[in-house]
Amino acid sequence: MRLKKQKSLFIKPELTVEELSIALYNVNRKLEKANQQLKESERIRLEMFSNLSHDLRSPITTLRSYVEYLLSFDKLDEKEVFSTLDQMHSKILSLDHLMNELLLIATLDSETEEQFQFEQIQIGMFLEEFFYFCETDKKYSNRKLTLKVPSNFPYYASIDTKMFSRVLDNLFTNSLKYSSSGDTISLDACCLKNEIIISVADTGIGIIKSNLPFIFDRTFMVSDARTPDSSTGCGLGLSIAQSILEKHQGRIWCESEANKGSTFYISLPLLKLT
Ligand code: ADP
Repeated sequence: MRLKKQKSLFIKPELTVEELSIALYNVNRKLEKANQQLKESERIRLEMFSNLSHDLRSPITTLRSYVEYLLSFDKLDEKEVFSTLDQMHSKILSLDHLMNELLLIATLDSETEEQFQFEQIQIGMFLEEFFYFCETDKKYSNRKLTLKVPSNFPYYASIDTKMFSRVLDNLFTNSLKYSSSGDTISLDACCLKNEIIISVADTGIGIIKSNLPFIFDRTFMVSDARTPDSSTGCGLGLSIAQSILEKHQGRIWCESEANKGSTFYISLPLLKLT
């Protein structure tokens, strides 16, 4: 569109040669910038595929060796079989999780809004429901979950409840992953001018300052920082959360201090009901 406007500059007869060359120079710069952006997104895409092929290959290799291990026996010990199947099951779950994330990325990149079904939702009630759902989940049993959302939070926003739950779930899962037994995970919300601000805070391992600007990048994960239980993620969760927030005209950001904990903030446009 912008280029079209620029085109009209060139056919104006009153333009001097100098003005014309300035206009040409500007168009050239814009094209160069667009080209650089294309190259950068191509680089990110390639890096992501290379990370992904590693993330896919590693559980598949492990699964193969488990199967080969079981096949190597003439007679199988029942205990051994169950323990191997258990480990295979957890690898399959992580593969399943990765495939779901990839599918979601493809949906979010497709630029279509069709997959999103926006509804006017009272955010306080929605957050409470999400919180109580987590509270009953035994994976959080050794964390202190705290609901700080005021009990009478009357504000509305337009959200796709399924997609928005994925964002909250990702933040809660990260808080669990990057904290230890006895740590706190809290959920809070407030209303500032035209925005609802939701926060998920934990008292876990935190993020070092130099890594903070990159955590929402699609290809980023802190490779040297293991979670307290030595597991690692696939580094896609926060970039997915950011894309979902963009579709909601919202934002996501993080404040964190190493060894003290992290707070992730989400903003949503406040819906003014008539
Ligand atoms: P991953 O699957 O690696 O957790 P994410 O995109 O969800 O991918 O997070 C990107 C990186 O941000 C993680 O590798 C981790 O280092 C850091 N991170 C995210 N949430 C937290 C948190 N609550 N506490 C500490 N570090 C976090």
